[in-house]
Amino acid sequence: MTTSEEPARRQWVPFRDWALWKRPRNWIRYTLATEAVTLGLIVAAIVYVPVTSRQLVMFLVLAGLGVLQAEISRKIERMRRSLNVTPHISMTSVWMLPAILLLPPQLIALLSFTLYLHSGIRSWLGIQHVALHRTITNANGVSLTCFAASAVTFGLFGADALTGPNAAAAVCVAAVMYFTANTAITGVGLYLAAPDRASVHSIIGTWDDNLLDMATLCLGGLLVLSLVNQPLLCVVVFVPIFVLQRSVLAKQLEELASKDQKTGLLNATAWHEQGQRELSRAGRADGEFSVLMIDLDFFKKINDSFGHLAGDDMLIALAGLLKRETRTHDLVGRFGGEEFVVLLAGASELEALVAAERIRGLITELVVNSRTNDGTPVTIQDRSASIGVAAYPTGGSTLDEVLASADAAVYAAKRGGRNRVVGSAFLDPVSATPG
Ligand code: GH3
Ligand code: MG
Ligand code: MG
Repeated sequence: MTTSEEPARRQWVPFRDWALWKRPRNWIRYTLATEAVTLGLIVAAIVYVPVTSRQLVMFLVLAGLGVLQAEISRKIERMRRSLNVTPHISMTSVWMLPAILLLPPQLIALLSFTLYLHSGIRSWLGIQHVALHRTITNANGVSLTCFAASAVTFGLFGADALTGPNAAAAVCVAAVMYFTANTAITGVGLYLAAPDRASVHSIIGTWDDNLLDMATLCLGGLLVLSLVNQPLLCVVVFVPIFVLQRSVLAKQLEELASKDQKTGLLNATAWHEQGQRELSRAGRADGEFSVLMIDLDFFKKINDSFGHLAGDDMLIALAGLLKRETRTHDLVGRFGGEEFVVLLAGASELEALVAAERIRGLITELVVNSRTNDGTPVTIQDRSASIGVAAYPTGGSTLDEVLASADAAVYAAKRGGRNRVVGSAFLDPVSATPG
C-alpha cells in the first residue's frame, strides 16, 4: 500500500528545508514571536516561581492521564484528524484546564509540550506525519493560552483560588479565559497562514467545533474539582472523553458523506436527497422551485495555463460566490468537475432567470488570487459561465427531469456562444446576452 512512501516520510529533514520556512512570512514572524514570549515566561518562572512537590505530583498525574487517554482513543483520534478540515480541536484542554489552576507556568508548559510531543511522536510512527513545527506551534499556543488564563484567574481570585469559597467561580473563569485566549491566539495564526482565504468560519471554527471545545473544558473543570477533592474519581473522566470523541467522529463521517471535499458544497448524493424533499414539499403544496445548472466556460484553460491548484481555487471561489448569493434554504451543490447546481426553493423560472443573470454577471467580475503549481502568484479574472435554468413543474415532474431540462439549457447556452443564461422554457438564448 503506502509502504514505499513511509521510509521517505520518516527521514530527518535538514533545518533549512523544514516545512516551517515554506509558510507565509507573517505567519512565521508571529509564530516565532509567540514562541519567544513563551520561552521568556518559562525562564522567568524557572527563576522566580518555586515548584512544590505537590505540584510535581499533580504534573505527573495530569501527564499520565493525558498520555493514557491519548493511547486509549488513538484510533478514533487518528481518523478524526484525517477528516477534519476546520481547526483541529484536540482533547488537550481536559488536562490543561486543571494545569492552569494547579501548576506553576513552567510545569504548565512542560505538560503542554509533553502531551503534544506524545501525539507528534505517535503520528510520526503512524501513517500520518505531522510536521515538528506544528507540534511545537500547538504546544506553544496552548502554553500561552494557559499562562493568560492563569494570570487572569489568580489575579481575580488570589493564590487560594481553588481552596477558597469561590473555587467553582475560579474554574469557570479559567475555562472562559482558556476559550477566549485560545480562540484569539490560534485565530491570528490561522488568519496569517492564509489571509486571502480567511473567513470567520475558517478562523474561529464551526459552531460544532466550539461546542466540542466547551465540552472538553467542562470535563476539565470537573476534573480539577475532582483532583482537589476526590483524586481517585478522576479516572471516570475517560468514559465521557471516549464517548465525546466517538460522537464527533460519527458526525464528521456523516458530513464527509454529504459534502464535496473541495468546495464544502453538497455533493451530488446529498443534493439529490435534499432536492427530493423540496420536490415533495412543492408537490404537496402546489408550489414551485427552480434549478440553476452552472458550467464554467473554458475552465480547462485555467488548468492548462496556471495548473490544477489555480483551477481548484477558481472552483472554491465560485462555490463561495454561490453560497453568498443564495439563501440558507437553497441547495448549492457541486456535481463534480466544474459543474455546479443550485436549487432555488419556491422560485419560478422567471425569478430564477433573474437570479441566474445576477450570478452570471458576478462570475465575470470574480477575481481570484492563486498560485501556479510551482508557487508563482497568478490572478484569475475575466472568466465566465453558462447557466441553464429549469423550473418545477414546468420543466419536469421529477427532479431528474428538471435537471435534464436545466442540462439541455446549459448545452444551448454553450452552443449560443457561452457566458449567457438560458431558460429551459424557451430553449433559445433568451436572456441577457452580455455586451
Ligand atoms: P466548456 O466551456 O465547454 O465548458 O469548456 P471547459 O473547458 O470548461 O469544459 P471541459 O469539460 O472540456 O473541461 C472541464 C475540465 O475541468 C477538465 C478537467 O480537467 C477539469 N476539472 C474537473 N474537475 C476538476 C477539479 O476538481 N479541479 C480542477 N482544477 N480541474 C478540474
Ligand atoms: Mg465548462
Ligand atoms: Mg463541464
